[in-house]
Amino acid sequence: MPALQEIQHTGMDPRVRIFRFGQEVDAYAITTQEHLVIFDTFATPELALEMMETVQADLAGRQLLVINSHADWDHFWGNSIFTASGAYPAPIIGHENMLTRIRDEAVALQTQQQSDVRFKNVQTISPNVTLSGGLKIHGGDLTLELIHTPGHTADHLCVWIPEIRVLIAADAIEKPIPEVGANDSLAQMRQSFSKLQQLNAQYVLPSHGGTHSPALLQQNIDYFQMLEEGVFQAIKHHPLPPDWLTRTDLPEILGLAFETCINPTGIPSDDSPFASDFYRNCHLKAIRATVATAQAQPSQNSVAQ
Ligand SMILES: [Zn+2]
Repeated sequence: MPALQEIQHTGMDPRVRIFRFGQEVDAYAITTQEHLVIFDTFATPELALEMMETVQADLAGRQLLVINSHADWDHFWGNSIFTASGAYPAPIIGHENMLTRIRDEAVALQTQQQSDVRFKNVQTISPNVTLSGGLKIHGGDLTLELIHTPGHTADHLCVWIPEIRVLIAADAIEKPIPEVGANDSLAQMRQSFSKLQQLNAQYVLPSHGGTHSPALLQQNIDYFQMLEEGVFQAIKHHPLPPDWLTRTDLPEILGLAFETCINPTGIPSDDSPFASDFYRNCHLKAIRATVATAQAQPSQNSVAQ
């Protein structure tokens, strides 16, 4: 039985093929006149191989290219099949910041290999073509614009295909909410939202959440705006506890409980790594980052007008 499911969205250009592994993550195969572009390689080489076998026919007469959205395990641990000695050798393109992340986070693989046998064949393969700004891949009929969108992580890339107004957003946006990398990366995340909003995409494809609606981007923007206003009001009336940075009940203290802020529709079931505990933690991180941002820039709290 295949592990991957191919997803079709009504009306979306068939040159963008979407593959989904359960409730874990989506990856993409984009066929242009010149290239077959694989965007993300799932969490294991076996899953990446299954995707390649499915799109095999599209490879004839085309250069294979691989893009990694970022160095989170669920997006690039299938890379090994694309090395020179792998089944499908191809350039692997990623943001320069992936290189340091992969070096620094090797321990994550060991931990996951010990806890789950399905990761036994994973090797963390870095991209061998890196960019630090943007990059355009000219495929003849379609152009793939790689856009640096830090915030979730420092190495994050989205792909914009202007001819068909498709934005592959990876983890820059997410349903129900994206994960802010660190307290000091919230401003970058919100700048990345603005960058993506300017594209005016018709289809927006996050890697988690199973939607293609452009409304998700606005929902993510509104969520962080709501937190900014909520945090501002809360700390105007009550001083923060001195240990706010480590308090896990910070959302409740500020009157911004998970249940009141997040629409749970579509959150994966508990056997997924992205179940409600994951998003509960994302909400806590988002609130910590919002408070940290408000603390760092008290004079810029303009929401009380
Ligand atoms: Zn992810």
